[in-house]
Amino acid sequence: MCFRPPSAGKAIKCPSCGALNPSIAKNCVKCKTDLSQAKEEMNKEENNKEDK
Ligand SMILES: [Zn+2]
Repeated sequence: MCFRPPSAGKAIKCPSCGALNPSIAKNCVKCKTDLSQAKEEMNKEENNKEDK
């Protein structure tokens, strides 16, 4: 079985303060840190997993 959860419901963990932000958030809700970098890293990890 291949179950893939919708990426829209995935939370992004702030690399700075560790707060969980909605995937649509561009900046951390707590410390306003730019989340685009954290998103890219998450995508990389996902791609690596799928690649295996
Ligand atoms: Zn933060």
